Amino acid sequence: MSPQQPLSGDRPKAAPKPTPDTQPYWDAANRRELAIQRCTSCGKAFFYPRSACPVCYSQQVEWFVASGRARLHTYLISHRPAPGFAEQVPYAIAVVELEEGPRMMTNIVGVDNTPENLVLDMDLEVDFEPRGAQLVPVFRPAGSRARGPAGSAAGSPAESPA
Ligand SMILES: [Zn+2]
Repeated sequence: MSPQQPLSGDRPKAAPKPTPDTQPYWDAANRRELAIQRCTSCGKAFFYPRSACPVCYSQQVEWFVASGRARLHTYLISHRPAPGFAEQVPYAIAVVELEEGPRMMTNIVGVDNTPENLVLDMDLEVDFEPRGAQLVPVFRPAGSRARGPAGSAAGSPAESPA
């Protein structure tokens, strides 16, 4: 297959820049933990990080480590690489729904990102991908975590050109 013209050369993927509100999230990711917040007034979990509950506006919020289990809510497959993603096209830009309720935008790893492989509501689990010195949460099909040198390797996906 002929790769598409990369738009961005070999730039690395952008690394997040933590803010005071998001620092605990990124610190947890570097411990390979998915930390989100919940409201201690109404009990709702929420994401993205912020200082007040989006449901009841209470400022009584706390961080906790989520289970890392999620389901695939929706996605689109991008054929035009963002900077640093040139070797991954086509890849999915996905929204997953965490077991605790909040949804987050992410990438799906550990499987070729094709419509055949990405089934809505499929079970996922969090994994972490380095971006410079920062680990970034991503998701993979539940139970697919490679224990050794594995991966989806040699198979070339039978895919029609975009
Ligand atoms: Zn609340």
